[in-house]
Parts: sequence; structure tokens; C-alpha cells
Amino acid sequence: MANKSYYFLNLGCPKNQTDGDNIRGALNGLGLTEAESPEIVDYIIVNTCAFIEDARLETQGEIRELEEYKKNGARLIAVGCYPALSDIRKDIPAVDAAFRFNQVEELLSYVSGDKIGCHSPDQINRVVEDLPYAYLVISDGCDNRCSYCSIPMIRGGYRSRPVMSILKEAEYLAKNGIKELVLVAQDTAIYGNDIQGKPDLACLCRMLAGVGGIEWLRIMYAHPAHLSEDLLDKLFAIDKVCRYLDMPIQHISPNMLSRMKRQCGPAKIKQLINHLRKIDNDISLRTTLMVGFPGEADDDFKALLDFIEETKFDHLGAFTYSPEANTAAEDLDNRVEPELAGERYEMLYDVAEDISSQKAEAQKGIRQKLLIERESLEGGGYMEARSYRQAPEIDGFYRIPEKRGMKIGQFIEALIKDVDQAEYEV
Ligand code: SF4
Repeated sequence: MANKSYYFLNLGCPKNQTDGDNIRGALNGLGLTEAESPEIVDYIIVNTCAFIEDARLETQGEIRELEEYKKNGARLIAVGCYPALSDIRKDIPAVDAAFRFNQVEELLSYVSGDKIGCHSPDQINRVVEDLPYAYLVISDGCDNRCSYCSIPMIRGGYRSRPVMSILKEAEYLAKNGIKELVLVAQDTAIYGNDIQGKPDLACLCRMLAGVGGIEWLRIMYAHPAHLSEDLLDKLFAIDKVCRYLDMPIQHISPNMLSRMKRQCGPAKIKQLINHLRKIDNDISLRTTLMVGFPGEADDDFKALLDFIEETKFDHLGAFTYSPEANTAAEDLDNRVEPELAGERYEMLYDVAEDISSQKAEAQKGIRQKLLIERESLEGGGYMEARSYRQAPEIDGFYRIPEKRGMKIGQFIEALIKDVDQAEYEV
């Protein structure tokens, strides 16, 4: 495969992007060279997302932009979630070949022209970027069947990765300079329930905490239905588990949660948040919310706004409902007009932004342990760093004037000067 090259565009959530990093590693292992630009390559590979209509449209747009480079002889390949959900070659005929996220061997055979077998999913060859954090996928698929979600159709049922396989990857990442592991899955809270010995998330984190070089473990996507006070106690008793939790609740109105089939009512959500605050009042909480779900009345939305104002999540992501084919919610009545859903989204966003700013302001004057992540993309002699309160890529960072000897992956104690500025006295 010498002299063959490829350009790789990684779209979608961190889980999908981690699949993409594994594919890049496998391609490099075959002797292909990854190019930084799509202009003159043999293959243009797009790792696609298909989570909702907007994601599919974005994927289509990106592929259409890349289509023009086919004139230079490249073959255009789509991989990932989109081909798992529907026939992407019908939607975009310029795509020469499409492979689902679990068809890596088929992709490798296609680019090499040879039958490539025995590509073990446990073989670690992922490409590690020059950053001090990495996403660590602990399971795939989902059994929850929330009524609006097509992920189980795309990714299949829940499958925890064996502990040893996760540990092996964590060691590999640590050897490659990773200091922070960000644990991701469609639902991290139910980890281990389907495998021998039923090691739970806390058990996994205890073992990951023993991997030399790893200093921070961060838990994302913990479904509240599968969290318990006991699991939270065990998790936050582990020093290396950041006092941070991403717990997507989607809504707080009982009517909405039931129509969404979230298997978790408002009482449980409130109980978990109270318990988290008891463990540590400074725990940083992130959630995701959905507005405009069928049947969402003014009162339901008001209950959600009140709850957000009262709970003061540190970080919040929101989106408006869009109907997905073959999901239970597709046929629900009482659709919310798109304009009204948009207005609610804006209102929610304004409130959430206000709270996030207050929370960020409250950090001013505090000394925090920060992880230096990269040189500032704006340049000017600054570095970017995050505290335990900020997940990479989504929760912001602090800019710090660069000092001699400062390096990526270093932990420092810095004084928070402003919502996005910190200072480090050597
Ligand atoms: S928990 Fe619900 S929303 Fe999340 S992936 Fe599973 S079915 Fe989809």
C-alpha cells in the first residue's frame, strides 16, 4: 500500500470520532499516508454522523464539498453511522463506497484491494493527537429506547467493553502522553451490567485510576435512570474522578419524561442532584435538554425553565426535537410548531447562558489546578488550560500567558483572573 494516501474527515460525537481515530490507525498500519488536505489523495474518507436530521444534512454538505476533489482521481468513501442508518449512496451518488462503523475489515479490504481479515476490535492502533486528553469508549449501543432516538437502530443493543480491553487502551493512551481520560458511551452509568462479574462504572474507574500517568477521569453521558446514590458515592470517592458529571436529563416535566420514555421521573433526577451537591457542593454539572417534544405545553416548558434556574447547571446543551423515522415518537400527536420550539430554545439558551456566566464569574479569585491543553489558537504567547470543571471541547478553557518551560500535559496551580483568563506564578 506504499504511496497510497487518504484524507480523513471525522464528524459527529466523540464516540464516533474515536472510531475514526481507530480507522486512521488501521489505515496507517496498512502503509497508507494520511494527508492534511483532500486535494491530491487516493481516498477521501468521511466518518459520518446521522444522529438527527441536522447531523445528516451537515454530513451531506461536507461530502458535497469534498466531491470536487474526485476530479483529481480520489475515491470518496463514507463510513460510520450514516451508512448504518440508511443508504448514503442513494442520498449522495458521488459516494463510491460506504461502510458501517463495524465494517472496518471491509473498508481495509476495499482500500488495499486485498481481503483483510482478523482485524480484532481490541487491537489498539488509534491515532493519538498531540493533546493531553483522549476519549475512552467504554461501551457501544443502547438498550434504553428513548422514544425520540434512533441511536439503538444505528448502533444496536448495549455492549460493554471488557474491563481488560479498556485498561489496555488506557495504558496505550497514557504511554502516548494522555493525562485525562474522558469516559464516553451512549450511557456510561449502566456500564458492566451485561458482562461477566458485572463490574460497575466505579469498579472500572478504580482500575483506570491505577494506570500510571492518568491523573483525571471524567464521566460523560451518565443516564440518570441508571445512577444511584451508592454509585455516585463510590465514583466520587475515587480521587482521580473529576468532581464533574454529565447527566443528560432531557426534561423535568413528568409528562414529557414519560412521553420521551426516559425511565426516570423528576423525583429521581432531583434526588440525584441533591445527593451530588451533598457529596460536594462544588461539583460541576452538565446536562442536555430537549425542547419542542410532542405534547410539550406551556406549563411543561415553564417547569423546565424554573428547574434550570433553580438547579443552576454549570454547563448545558440543548436542542429542539426533530422527528426521526421509525422511532416511537414519530407518530406522537400534539406536535409543537417549529417556530414555538425555536422560541423556547432561545429562551432556554438565554437563561442557561446567564447561569453559566454567573458560575464562571464565581471562579474568579480562586486558585485552581489546571491542565495545559495546547498553545492558544489565537497565538500571542498564550496557552489554553482547563480545570476539573470543564470538559474538553464543550465547556470552555482559560487562556494563560505562556511561561518558559510550560508544556502541554502539565498540571499547574493558577489563579483564575477572569471567566476565561488565568495567571500562573512560577
Ligand atoms: S439513552 Fe436514550 S437518547 Fe441516549 S442513546 Fe440511548 S436511546 Fe438514545
